[in-house]
Amino acid sequence: MEFEPVIGLEIHAQLKTETKIFCGCSTSFGAPPNTHVCPICLGMPGVLPVLNKKVVDYALQMGIATNCTILKKNRFARKNYFYPDLPKGYQISQYELPIAKNGYLDIEIEDKKKRIGITRIHMEEDAGKLIHDPDHNMSLVDFNRTGVPLLEIVSEPDLSSAAEAEAYLRKVRSILRYLGISDGNMEEGSFRCDANISIRPVGTKKLGTRTELKNLNSFKHVGNSIYFEINRQKELLSENKEVIQETRLWDADKNRTCSMRGKEDAHDYRYFPDPDLLPLVIDDEWIDSVKKNIPELRDQKKERFINEYGLPPADARLLTSTRELALFFDECVKKFNEPKQISNWIMGPLLGLLNSKGITIEESPVSFENLADLLKLIEKDLISGKIAKTVFEEMGETGKSPEKIVKEKGLAQVSDSSVIEDIILNLMVENAGEVEKYRQGKTKVLGFFVGQVMQKTRGKANPGIVNKLLKEHLKKK
Ligand SMILES: [Zn+2]
Repeated sequence: MEFEPVIGLEIHAQLKTETKIFCGCSTSFGAPPNTHVCPICLGMPGVLPVLNKKVVDYALQMGIATNCTILKKNRFARKNYFYPDLPKGYQISQYELPIAKNGYLDIEIEDKKKRIGITRIHMEEDAGKLIHDPDHNMSLVDFNRTGVPLLEIVSEPDLSSAAEAEAYLRKVRSILRYLGISDGNMEEGSFRCDANISIRPVGTKKLGTRTELKNLNSFKHVGNSIYFEINRQKELLSENKEVIQETRLWDADKNRTCSMRGKEDAHDYRYFPDPDLLPLVIDDEWIDSVKKNIPELRDQKKERFINEYGLPPADARLLTSTRELALFFDECVKKFNEPKQISNWIMGPLLGLLNSKGITIEESPVSFENLADLLKLIEKDLISGKIAKTVFEEMGETGKSPEKIVKEKGLAQVSDSSVIEDIILNLMVENAGEVEKYRQGKTKVLGFFVGQVMQKTRGKANPGIVNKLLKEHLKKK
């Protein structure tokens, strides 16, 4: 029997607000344990949560960017469970009335588009962090993360392979990053993902029993674990065994998933509306103002780079891989209107430089102004393309402007015909034999003379002029 996988993802994205969702504590990462806490996020009796407006703003942005319907009246609910990293004994989340639902986004797999439904997006608070200390046989808890705002983005079970799941995850992250509302950093835990996976015979509609893979913390683990889980379920069913509904964990060392606990159903959490928080009412004005401020996202940018700048799709894809890189390119083009040339310099030397230094475009020692200026120097024939590479390397080391480097190092191109002519005449005297060969028809000797002129001028002679003058003088009898 042929089976097809049915996959849905639940993504948790930490929002980049200054303060937590229901109190004024800082959200900054890496502070000493339990220093960013107050009675509210510690769940002391008698305190009242106050909603951070920025969180709502960010949730609206994500809802609109993913084509969701915004619920103008939504509300917070308590999700009740006990765990030592959850001081209140419940998590404030949204349940029956989330802020956004029924959206979609398009992914691309091998140039084929597929639309993935988004069931819902809701706001909630993060829990604290448990640190297990086996040396002292105890566990410690850090509440700094308690109350940090999260968006949970739940997809429809529209994904049907590990590759599609990964493409969808990357797409969601790209939107969050382009909006500037989340770091989307899986390694630091600001972007996390659970996957619901089941399989069913091809052609049937009924969903099979699903398992949930928890806390996948890298793109590689997402792909590998889903792939493994699909095959595990296929094997069970083909042996007439049952798939058990449960939560499973990915063991990256053993390259397999393993059972963690029986999966709880929603009713186990005893959700109910949080009586401390009023229903959240969002008016049209608020929605319109968020809509107006949604920046150009990656897909639109890619289209624009192809249509307006005439870039090949591969260039457009790479240049839009982050918002910052796309911005760098856009700014560069504003200063020097040769998009393909700029694209070549960014994709080649610039990304090479960033890679070798292990830094991002925001930290680039070469600014967009300086890159544009370098290309202008080539265009004006003030330096050759080859010297430009040398100047660029220096820019990468020192961050200096290309003009300054050319001046300091005396790299300006020699375009003065009389200077080049002198060098050529001297060379012809020194290499009379080679001149004779040329005149007998061995025109390949020209390359030798070009090389010599370049050596004498340390690569600075204008190649066009060198070629022209050499041909003239070598021909003469
Ligand atoms: Zn607090």
